[in-house]
Amino acid sequence: MKQLESKSVVLLKHHLKVLRLPTISAECEKVAAQAASDNVDHLSYLLQLLELELLDREKRAADRRLKAAKFPTLKTLDTFDFAARPSVNKVEITELARCEYIDKHENVLLVGNPGTGKSHLATALAACACAKGYRVRFYRTTELVTALIEARDERAFLRLKGQFARLDLLVLDELGYVPASKVGAELLFDVISTAYERTSLIVTSNLPFDSWTEVLGSERLTGATLDRLTHRCRIIETKGESYRLRHAKARSRRPKIEESVPGTGSSEALDTVSSTN
Ligand code: ADP
Ligand code: MG
Repeated sequence: MKQLESKSVVLLKHHLKVLRLPTISAECEKVAAQAASDNVDHLSYLLQLLELELLDREKRAADRRLKAAKFPTLKTLDTFDFAARPSVNKVEITELARCEYIDKHENVLLVGNPGTGKSHLATALAACACAKGYRVRFYRTTELVTALIEARDERAFLRLKGQFARLDLLVLDELGYVPASKVGAELLFDVISTAYERTSLIVTSNLPFDSWTEVLGSERLTGATLDRLTHRCRIIETKGESYRLRHAKARSRRPKIEESVPGTGSSEALDTVSSTN
């Protein structure tokens, strides 16, 4: 009898493997023992197993989406200190974390000085999208431009564009650090206009809009890019000075901390964004 049981378990595990139900395979014996001791009926036992498999499957898929997004470092909203960045509205970010902007094909622009949490917020919001089942890809803009230039004359370019077409959300981090070449700027514009009203974009930049011409090279391209990006878009300004710099300063001169008055900006060399008018 014992032998027969173990034989049918082996067969069961084999069938579960063929059917790709790894969680049921791992849990069925334990749950069966529990069900027997709790006097649970067969259908409830089956339901329990299927629920475990579904939960696990969702988790595995979310992990795969997180991996596919290729975040340089994973950041979450739990670790964002909203009190340290009063220009960022926690309610608005919490609302964005629900991802309705992705369903509406809207964009999010994060603008502010270096170190003010733009990449942190972009990554955290994009990670929320992964958890909710959206397909996401994160790029440093310069990396994307390099990839586009390298692929431009090859089939790889079409493959890359095909990948973008399947995305729900594309993050372009640090638009503005390095001026793109003319070709690079045209290719970047092509990605942005193809995404327009199909794929949501989260763009971070340390440059105020009137300096985007320096990156994109021409007034025409800058105008057309901003037109597409800012049509149906949320603009979030991370005003103030660098988070780490502020903490480093606070640590080194703890007895007399001087806070800059909100809205007046500071004289830090890092401050490159003038308040928008
Ligand atoms: P930016 O992209 O604006 O240059 P980052 O998002 O890279 O800035 O922030 C720099 C570092 O400071 C990161 O490690 C980030 O996690 C941290 N940081 C910035 N702002 C905050 C904040 N308000 N709360 C917690 N960590 C923050
Ligand atoms: Mg950044």
